[in-house]
Amino acid sequence: MVAVSVLGALILTLGLVRRSGPDAAAPDFVPAEAGSGRPTTPTSSPTSSPTGTPTAPPTGTGRPGATRPGTRPPVVDHGPRTGNRVALTFDADMTDGMLFNLRSGKVASYANLKILDLLERDQVPATFFLTGKWVERYPEVTARIAGNPRFELANHTYGHLAFTGDCYGLPRIPTQQMTQDVARTFTIVERYGGRQTRYFRFPGLCHDGAALAALAPLGVTVVDGDVVSGDPFATAWQPIVRAVLDTVRPGSVIILHVTEANAAMTDEALPHILAGLAARGLTPAPLSAVLGDGPADS
Ligand SMILES: [Zn+2]
Repeated sequence: MVAVSVLGALILTLGLVRRSGPDAAAPDFVPAEAGSGRPTTPTSSPTSSPTGTPTAPPTGTGRPGATRPGTRPPVVDHGPRTGNRVALTFDADMTDGMLFNLRSGKVASYANLKILDLLERDQVPATFFLTGKWVERYPEVTARIAGNPRFELANHTYGHLAFTGDCYGLPRIPTQQMTQDVARTFTIVERYGGRQTRYFRFPGLCHDGAALAALAPLGVTVVDGDVVSGDPFATAWQPIVRAVLDTVRPGSVIILHVTEANAAMTDEALPHILAGLAARGLTPAPLSAVLGDGPADS
């Protein structure tokens, strides 16, 4: 069981500003079908734009993490404890409160481009759990993620609402809206192409039977993670590095954040995490490879 309590601070103080960075999003940007040439699902429209209305929800059959629609989704903490692979996963949270902070100028950016710079420079695979609102706010950054053949894209809800009654004080989404919230987010993310998956992560890792049942029609795999870095609102990079390297094992799924102002030390921690993984003989790999859902060499 994942120690989700460590995540507690991430949710409530979403307005906290520690450091700012460049905001790369352009309001008129229209994403192309960027990426590695992976085909889109038959149900997605090749001409759809971020403002278009999809005609049918894609099922994502055949994508990593895809499960049979109608069945309660599996919940995964980590992959097999054999081999040397681990998954770096980065959550991209976005709430209405965070959007307000951006609009008011209180926060400059919730997109940590220094993380992308480093991962790209060192050719490190990673998997990004994106909220729909983050994608809508950062279409260019999303296209950059989708355009990297080492990066996978996954789903972290539309607006980072709680899917259970007690989830760090996050506002709760009504049960009858859960399925559509997650389906809508897949639709938003899938427009960007690249390495799309059917992996889903609940905000705060909060889920119960009702939340899992709501996802059954979507054919997804729920991914929690077994290494909680504690990077939200960290005030120094060293504890993040320690939290990761003290608990990481073969097959681990490491939870980090790409939210800049809400996780301002993550980019400073990342080089040390990568060095520590290498020293332990562990190699970052896409989540699908760590979970055994993807190509062995990816
Ligand atoms: Zn989150």
